[in-house]
Amino acid sequence: MMSLRTLPIDDRLFQYVLDHSLREHPAQKALREATRDHPQAGMQIAPDQGQFMGLLVKMLGARRTIEIGTFTGYSALTVALALPADGHVLACDINDAYTGIGRPFWSQAGVDHKIELVLAPALQTLEARLSAGEAGSYDFAFIDADKVNYPHYYERCLDLVRAGGLIAFDNMLWGGAVAHPAKDADTAALQALNAKLHHDVRVDLALLTVGDGLTLARKR
Ligand code: SAM
Ligand code: CA
Repeated sequence: MMSLRTLPIDDRLFQYVLDHSLREHPAQKALREATRDHPQAGMQIAPDQGQFMGLLVKMLGARRTIEIGTFTGYSALTVALALPADGHVLACDINDAYTGIGRPFWSQAGVDHKIELVLAPALQTLEARLSAGEAGSYDFAFIDADKVNYPHYYERCLDLVRAGGLIAFDNMLWGGAVAHPAKDADTAALQALNAKLHHDVRVDLALLTVGDGLTLARKR
């Protein structure tokens, strides 16, 4: 029995995981269905990953969270559902058409009051929040937007989260491309960030082989 690394997950085993562990609010299921035929549907996080992130949010006792890259709002919805009634998601995106698909489902789940969507380049939003004195006031950040800006999002999020807070980075394995010589700027940026995080003493670290690679960095 291979146990020294992650199992290969074929369609049948992935379906088994969903059938035997997925707990979704009806609005989450409906939002996945509403996104399924979208040309960019592959950008949505997988539901098992969302459930894991919800668990992390609860374990952290998080109240204030940041999301960089909202798309049609599945990850924001999932985090909002895991937060207490006074919880907050600062959701950053630049695309009104994508996020517009998600908003009705946030309402359907009764968590729209927890999600503050800011349509502007995320770096601008994060810097504005730092200027407004919000450093150290967030518990959790999920980074899932343009890959070349990940290193900048990381530095801003490290300032915005408290000690003991968590930053999660999606797509850190980039379909396996990070293990090969980079052919584009996205791959190169993710490789550089993986290399930097490896020895970054400001955080505790794990790179999970969940989805497309989920790195967890806990601020020391
Ligand atoms: N977390 C989402 C989910 O689970 O459905 C998926 C996010 S998708 C991979 C990336 C998103 O980042 C897109 O919706 C895109 O519009 C947004 N984006 C791209 N560049 C951005 C920027 N500079 N600032 C904010 N959002 C950006
Ligand atoms: Ca992603």
